[in-house]
Amino acid sequence: MKRILALMLPVAVVGIYYGAGLDQRLTLEGIKSSLQAFSDWNAKAPALVAAAYFLGYMSLSALALPGAALITLVAGALFGVVRGTLIVSFASSSGALLAFLVSRYLLRDFVQQRFDERLKTINAGIAKDGPFYLFTLRLVPLVPFFIINLLMGLTSMRPWTFYWVSQIGMLAGTVVYVNAGTQLAQIDHLSGLLSPGLLLSFTLLGIFPWLTKLGLNLWQRRRIYGRWKCPARFDRNIVVIGAGAAGLVTSYIAAAVKAKVTLVEAGKMGGDCLNYGCVPSKALIRSAKLAHQIRHADHYGLTPSVHELPFQHVMARVREVIRTVAPHDSVERYTGLGVEVWQGYARIVDPWTVEVTLKDGEKRRLTTRSIVIATGAKPFVPLLPGIENSDYVTSDTLWEEFAKRDTPPGRVVVLGGGPIGTELAQALARLGSEVTQVEKGDRILAREDAEVSDLARQALEQNGVQVLTAHSALRCERVDDQKYLVVSHQGQEKIIPFDVLICAVGRVARLEGYGLEELGIPVERTVTTNDYLETLYPNIYAAGDVVGPYQFTHMAAHQAWYAAVNGLFGSVRKFKVDYRVVPWTTFIDPEVARVGLNEQEAKAQGIAYEVTRYGLDDLDRAIADGAAHGFVKVLTVPGKDKILGVTLVGEHAGDLIAEFVLAMKWGLGLNKILSTIHTYPTWAEANRYAAGEWKRAHVSRPILVWLEYFHDWRRG
Ligand SMILES: Cc1cc2nc3c(=O)[nH]c(=O)nc-3n(C[C@H](O)[C@H](O)[C@H](O)COP(=O)(O)OP(=O)(O)OC[C@H]3O[C@@H](n4cnc5c(N)ncnc54)[C@H](O)[C@@H]3O)c2cc1C
Repeated sequence: MKRILALMLPVAVVGIYYGAGLDQRLTLEGIKSSLQAFSDWNAKAPALVAAAYFLGYMSLSALALPGAALITLVAGALFGVVRGTLIVSFASSSGALLAFLVSRYLLRDFVQQRFDERLKTINAGIAKDGPFYLFTLRLVPLVPFFIINLLMGLTSMRPWTFYWVSQIGMLAGTVVYVNAGTQLAQIDHLSGLLSPGLLLSFTLLGIFPWLTKLGLNLWQRRRIYGRWKCPARFDRNIVVIGAGAAGLVTSYIAAAVKAKVTLVEAGKMGGDCLNYGCVPSKALIRSAKLAHQIRHADHYGLTPSVHELPFQHVMARVREVIRTVAPHDSVERYTGLGVEVWQGYARIVDPWTVEVTLKDGEKRRLTTRSIVIATGAKPFVPLLPGIENSDYVTSDTLWEEFAKRDTPPGRVVVLGGGPIGTELAQALARLGSEVTQVEKGDRILAREDAEVSDLARQALEQNGVQVLTAHSALRCERVDDQKYLVVSHQGQEKIIPFDVLICAVGRVARLEGYGLEELGIPVERTVTTNDYLETLYPNIYAAGDVVGPYQFTHMAAHQAWYAAVNGLFGSVRKFKVDYRVVPWTTFIDPEVARVGLNEQEAKAQGIAYEVTRYGLDDLDRAIADGAAHGFVKVLTVPGKDKILGVTLVGEHAGDLIAEFVLAMKWGLGLNKILSTIHTYPTWAEANRYAAGEWKRAHVSRPILVWLEYFHDWRRG
């Protein structure tokens, strides 16, 4: 109703304007002939005339009615240059603000919802450089005044910013017109006021801020690069440091587009994921799951086996899996793809030169147009007193340590309740270790909703893990061969004996020893970059765990595309990293997968949402597989078919989430998932059933009532 009223008011003013024939009277001749009468009124009641003029001008400019140029001249004739400029300047800016507010009030929500994804980029640009763009548009009189008001109203620009920038931006034009108005009697044609010369001057004024910006950029470049000497020629187009997921994908893309690329790796090809992370951990988890199923074979109508597990065979299989995957990331494969691979330690010596200490000690230097830092992260080891004598292991060392054992480690303490610690705790418990997991927060997997943490905890406890949340590690102690972790819980100290301590309390970016310090490249917990992954030096990029904010292999590969493309083609076109739809999975049993927002994040960010839930205990395939537990939880915009995020807990959750990732990425809603055929009986049907739950909750009740009448009537 309020919106209709807001629309009716401008319509009424436009009606009066044309109805009273003002459009006919607002001509140069008409104004000139009435000028004497206006001057007489102005002499008798100057305040009243100024106020009436102000209101009239504001309405004309707010509604983009014809005649604004003419009555600007009148201001000069009636009020003189200074007073006239003041009145017109405030009236035109207020009119512009009114049009801006009406556009925002009536249209913005609709436009923002319809073009949500595309407008995000525009809004980000407006947040950063909005006043600058507006100022330029105001200076150049070629862009219609009214269009600017309406378009800016649709963006996220603050009204006050819009007002003051408009006022300053339009001032030069206002002065020119008002000044011309002081000679109104001598003006014969309005077109003469905007001569080509004057238009050119305004355009130059508009370009001026851009020239200033360009100058500033050049100055900044000189300041950053000034102390280094740029080589006249470069040996390579791009040098990539680190052959983990980020470095491999960067160099793959560079070679695919025929760039000359060198990839330098100091350790093992494939980095953490292949050698110490995703691949060995998933191989271990698979063996552990099968061991669990064998032990509980009666669940499937078979005879359980409770024999000792050949742990050395499990670890041999882990190594075998790594060996089988390794050719994908090998020197041979990448050389074949056109990448030159150097095995050695790289150090950036200046913004265009990388020095590599090869395995045999030889040092070689390469000059390059761009450098990509893809040096990854390493496990964080907390500074607990006594930890140095505890023989602790991390994800970097445990694979080698465990490979030496015939039997699973007896008493294991896993420090850390994040994804890596939780996956390892469950897997080792299933393989026969006595596992205690220590987490100082109130719950494990704290990034997920509380109900997910609870489910994960129950799953671990059912597998024999003792989960100690709200327990802070204080120190490690050693008495002869006995090792202990001392923790504190609610002010009390507890002692936990262990044979193996696994530190899984997070991973920190590798930032030292390869030139960041010498070049003054800023770092905090990770290398600092802008949205294009450029470091302080725009030709040096960073991708993967070393830059964050997500430490996943698929994110490292995603960022690698931006680092490669911006590094090779950035002088023509640069791309900002797209972090809008990021999925991840914690590979415990049941798997926990997520994309987009969960409830705790939506609440923290003040985003309204609706929850639709489908329980996997209802899914035919889950029942047949003996794994009927978990759920699909979808968050949508209230009353709209727009997915905000999905959490999936259950068997194959990491695979099932892919359908929602696709839907979110391409703006598909639950209706589209519901109308897509899914094979029966599969786990993927769970996604369609979740969409069906949403649909059921959103059918129109009145339509159902009418349909009932309709069918009654059809039956006669
Ligand atoms: C136990 C565990 C399980 C995981 N599970 C998963 C999972 O299931 N899914 C998932 O998506 N992610 C998982 N991750 C995270 C994943 O492994 C990382 O996100 C990914 O490896 C990051 O890749 P990256 O290229 O950034 O770095 P890395 O893989 O760490 O590669 C960096 C490389 O740079 C090299 N390097 C460093 N400095 C230099 C130098 N100066 N000169 C030359 N070379 C150098 C290093 O030797 C290293 O090989 C897991 C991690 C761990 C530890």
